[in-house]
Amino acid sequence: MYRGRFAPSPTGPLHLGSLFTAVASWLSAKAARGQWLLRIEDIDPPREPPSAIGRIFSSLRTHGLVSDETVLLQRDRHEAYAAAVEDLLAAEHAFYCTCSRQDLAVAREQHPPQCANSKQSPGVPASIRVHMPADRYSFEDALLGHVDVPVTEDSFVIRRKDGLFAYHLAVVVDDAFQHISHVVRGRDLLDSTPYHLRLQHLLGLPTPVYSHLPLLLNDQGRKLSKQNLADPLDDDMAPDNLRFCLEALGQPQAPARLGDCASLLAWAVEHWDCSRVPRHDLPVTRQT
Ligand SMILES: [Zn+2]
Repeated sequence: MYRGRFAPSPTGPLHLGSLFTAVASWLSAKAARGQWLLRIEDIDPPREPPSAIGRIFSSLRTHGLVSDETVLLQRDRHEAYAAAVEDLLAAEHAFYCTCSRQDLAVAREQHPPQCANSKQSPGVPASIRVHMPADRYSFEDALLGHVDVPVTEDSFVIRRKDGLFAYHLAVVVDDAFQHISHVVRGRDLLDSTPYHLRLQHLLGLPTPVYSHLPLLLNDQGRKLSKQNLADPLDDDMAPDNLRFCLEALGQPQAPARLGDCASLLAWAVEHWDCSRVPRHDLPVTRQT
């Protein structure tokens, strides 16, 4: 059974770039007669305005994108992340690290001897990192074919010094927990994939099929993102937004008579052709 997902972090409202990913993952799942799940990656409370989750739900619903199962909130998953961290420490794949970013930059990623510990020194704030032995990872991307991603760090953080769990850990644990078979996401996450493959291997979890989508670029050639102040989605323009995403995904043009989101999506599922999805990033000339 194909099980796909869309997993936004609620650091603000959705924008056209996030809708593009949501639509691509939804169509891929539905065209395969599979399920599409929504997960909210709320693991960084200081960066998450309280109203964001409700607004994301309402935007997706307005665009006809509804989760096939109860929405998973990462704030409810801390026990599972802690258990995974314990497993990694017990097997000595992970270690406590007291270095600051600056220490690591000065020491060129070399940790001092006290960082080799899988036990925390009492009273010393420490992050927890996982060793990264290989300097490159290869995998088959469903969209890009064979990809070879260089890795520049010897280790990466799975739990921060402030106790918050890192994205890499949470995403891997939850993709397995939700039995996600296919991950469709933006190409900005391609560099993260080696960390995910490594954690899946160490935790004995299956690796889903990955498809890394092209990015929508703003007029300065940068990824549409909340950091780059992309405009929030205008839900009053939902059918137009969907048509924009379908066109950006290289799909055939839906007949003009289809004016509402449900019929547009139903038509797009019937005509979905993943081989038409562009492999290059896409400048956006229209922002809603
Ligand atoms: Zn260290």
